[in-house]
Amino acid sequence: MYIFQFSTMSDEERQAAEEKMINDEFQALLNDYLNSNHRRKVDIITKAFNLANEAHKGARRRSGEPYIMHPLAVARIVSREMGLGSTSISAALLHDVVEDTDYTVEDIRMMFGDKIAQIVDGLTKISSGMFGDNVSAQAENFRKLLLTMSEDIRVILIKIADRLHNMRTLSSMTPAKQFKITGETLYIYAPLAHRLGLFAIKTELEELCFKYEHPDIYAELTRKIEETAPERNKIYEHFAEPVIKALDKMGIQYEMRARVKSVYSIWKKMEAKGISFEEVYDLFAVRIIFEVTPGMDEKKQCWDIYSAITDIYKLRPDRIRDWLSHPKSNGYQALHLTVMGPDGKWIEIQIRSRRMDDIAEKGFAAHWKYKENRVEEDSELDKWIRTIQEILANPNPNAIDFLDTVKMNLFSSEIFVFTPKGEIITLPQDATALDFAYRIHTRIGDHCLGAKVNHTLVPLSYKLKSGDQVEILTSQTVNPQPEWLNFVTTAKARTKIEASLRRQKRRIAEKGKVMLDELFNNEPIDNNVMTKILNYYKVEKREDLYYLIGNNEVVLPESPDRFYKIKETLPKSENLFMKYMKQAMSAMKKSPVETGLITSPSDTDKKNISSPAIDTKQVYELKEERFKKNFIVAPCCKPLPGDEVFGYINDRNEVEVHKRSCETGIKLKSNFGDRIIAVRWGDYHQYSFLASIAFTGIDRIGILNTILSKLAEDVVVNIQSVNVSSNDGIFEGVINVHVHSVEDVNLLCSKIAKVDGVSTVHRSLI
Ligand code: MN
Repeated sequence: MYIFQFSTMSDEERQAAEEKMINDEFQALLNDYLNSNHRRKVDIITKAFNLANEAHKGARRRSGEPYIMHPLAVARIVSREMGLGSTSISAALLHDVVEDTDYTVEDIRMMFGDKIAQIVDGLTKISSGMFGDNVSAQAENFRKLLLTMSEDIRVILIKIADRLHNMRTLSSMTPAKQFKITGETLYIYAPLAHRLGLFAIKTELEELCFKYEHPDIYAELTRKIEETAPERNKIYEHFAEPVIKALDKMGIQYEMRARVKSVYSIWKKMEAKGISFEEVYDLFAVRIIFEVTPGMDEKKQCWDIYSAITDIYKLRPDRIRDWLSHPKSNGYQALHLTVMGPDGKWIEIQIRSRRMDDIAEKGFAAHWKYKENRVEEDSELDKWIRTIQEILANPNPNAIDFLDTVKMNLFSSEIFVFTPKGEIITLPQDATALDFAYRIHTRIGDHCLGAKVNHTLVPLSYKLKSGDQVEILTSQTVNPQPEWLNFVTTAKARTKIEASLRRQKRRIAEKGKVMLDELFNNEPIDNNVMTKILNYYKVEKREDLYYLIGNNEVVLPESPDRFYKIKETLPKSENLFMKYMKQAMSAMKKSPVETGLITSPSDTDKKNISSPAIDTKQVYELKEERFKKNFIVAPCCKPLPGDEVFGYINDRNEVEVHKRSCETGIKLKSNFGDRIIAVRWGDYHQYSFLASIAFTGIDRIGILNTILSKLAEDVVVNIQSVNVSSNDGIFEGVINVHVHSVEDVNLLCSKIAKVDGVSTVHRSLI
């Protein structure tokens, strides 16, 4: 990083210093490139740099840096961290030229040819904010992104590099902007990077998001990781000593080291399991990277190392992961095992060849088929991209569903199952027999009658497990049913079923239209009469009416005269789309006041106070008065003073306060970035928040009384409700209390924990 200390310089000096900085960075880029094993196409990269440098001249980033430093940094990521070649590097240098300057894609085409122009065009199309002001615009952008990706994967790779650099330089943004960007990153870029096998980048993206959203926890965990390093090193050294001896004896060239997990993944584990840092037992993994001995089989060498280690240490058989014979669909290949180390601790070991390690770090994309003249069997990545293309060919008119469907398939882990002929099929975890059928072929899915898993008949909703052999039974009389949508999990199955249901619905509606037309002797139906008919059957759209008639859900009268007699009464109907949007969003936006979850002034009080305009650039202090006006506690995550939070301006111009880690919050941050504001807690004494504490323990007489009296000891606790259930000598309880802060909750938790017989206590969602 360059530090700007230009204030004492003259303009000329400053300009010269900046030019030197830019040229140094460009030289560094060229060095990265020349050190890679790509061909030496320095000319085209230089030409791209010169154009970009000239085009962005005078422009600056928010940090004050000359703008060109950004494309240069993106190009370096593309070269060094993704291992891509001159085409990608040039496109990265040019990625903002069409968007931000007067140059057009045609200019780029003239100067750099079709390929680079096409990539820059793709980047420009998706650059205008992946995530616009509304959900459907976001979904449309996402669709565009996937489309460009399936045309040339380098578009999305450069986009991810662009995002990585923006994340690395996030500190110069306002807090509200930061939340928007971290939300998008966690919602879409990190899963995409993961899906494309860019493991190092995915980890860094998550780590940066975490650092910005939870600075205090991040600092604390980082400190703890450092403090515990000596102890970890000792465990590692004890473990490594005999292993090194054994591997050296085998004459293998290798490197072995302990790798500490990312702060983010440690924190996620703590959150998910409700455990403390000290209780996370797998803080690090041992990685062995070996050079393939010439003439030796790479996979066999992995197993040789495996057997050398298991000769020394006891293996934990349920934790072997063999990604050698069948790599993960993002290309990841390795052999993982867990053994009992000499200090009585489980230790995870990852064995990879140098080539496998390269793929694991830089992603499969660098090894992918746009490398010229490569004829090879389709990789899992090819297959995945083809699935995406198929989904895009049949887009769901409902944009939000579409987005969730595709996203669902981005992050899931995988299982491997077999066809009756022994072919391996990769499916996301939780895929059902019906998903399998659709995976084989749409026709097989559409007419799927049942399935045999390991020769036993199972229902369509049967969840498959790795290693299952699956045979599908079909019948031409079977057609997709709406219930199928309740259990399929793959994007492909969902899209195909929806498309088929729409077709069925359309056919029924066509039949209904014919029936209605016949009632009117095939004479055109007057608009007024039509409105009356719609009102009579309480439907909003003609298509819906036709469908009801065709499906015999409403019975038409003997003669059309009935309809002429109806008086016009009903109010104007609501637009169906708006209705859908309201439904879709209502879960997110149900105000806590409506749901009665916080103690707040009555509704009438609230209505009398008009909501002041909210400035997204400002950091709002959460004072008591605010909650009496237009600030509300988000019902989904119910933050308390002391939790790390942000604000979201909803449709009623209220500010919902969400936890930064809230799942709904991530969606809001990425979908409605422009409505995010930064907030921080003020002091609370009067105003109280409802919190919930869950505990379990051994049932004994009087334990609840002991707990309640403990709670009442020195603090005055306002308990709203207590709910205890007991079963087989174990009891589970939930107490809802009014508190002023997270500290209150922690204090109460520690009191409950001290009661004899209580085994777990934690804050829970109400
Ligand atoms: Mn950019």
